[in-house]
Amino acid sequence: MKKYYYSIIKFPLFVSSSLFIMALLFFISALVSYSRLGLSAQETVIYTILFIFLVILVATWLLILISTHQKIKPRWIAKYAKWMLTFVYYNLAMFLSFITFREKQTIQESFINFNNEIVLSQSKGMKHKNILLLVPHCLQNSDCKVRVTTSIDNCESCGKCNIADIKRIAESFGVKAQVATGGSLARKIVEDSIPEVIVAVACHRDLTDGVRDSWRLPVYGVFNKRPKGPCFETTVSISNIEFAIKKFI
Ligand code: SF4
Repeated sequence: MKKYYYSIIKFPLFVSSSLFIMALLFFISALVSYSRLGLSAQETVIYTILFIFLVILVATWLLILISTHQKIKPRWIAKYAKWMLTFVYYNLAMFLSFITFREKQTIQESFINFNNEIVLSQSKGMKHKNILLLVPHCLQNSDCKVRVTTSIDNCESCGKCNIADIKRIAESFGVKAQVATGGSLARKIVEDSIPEVIVAVACHRDLTDGVRDSWRLPVYGVFNKRPKGPCFETTVSISNIEFAIKKFI
């Protein structure tokens, strides 16, 4: 549990640090310009615009932090916050991780866990009927000849891979489960099923891309494990998937 919270905290820490650095640079630059000859009319306009921009960035970030515990009622504000998280703060955190030589994967993992907290808090008190459980094809045993991408019902539940568990969960909770062979198919499945909530299983890169692509929808991400290397006979924590589905139904 301690490890999980440590993992969540990295992303907000990186975003907060980026904003702090930006604010510091702004005030140093404004002070230096002012102390030389005072600010010209043109500089005053530029610094005012930059200051407003900075205030908006900080205020929206505070709103996002609050949204991990508090539901945002006006839907357009929730959408705006989600867009900013996906396209502005994610890039800020990634940029800071790049210049500080941090592993990209660590920030991606933290971003997904942070996003999960938001998805859970924004779904509080809501009962979802149309839940999509989207899992990658690499979960399937490589010797299995059954075509689970067509329908997960084709799985014969032999128990050699987690697909059998996914099928069982889907049946017992009455949710739709689909196996995707890649990002394009995953996008098509989402477009066709128009789910209220998605519980998605994938590796760090695919999950991050998927969550960002489907930013309009609540996507709860679960990482798969890769004991035999990437994209080959991966596994997933079934209890994590069950935990998420129970929260949404
Ligand atoms: S559990 Fe299903 S998908 Fe996995 S190997 Fe057995 S039949 Fe194939």
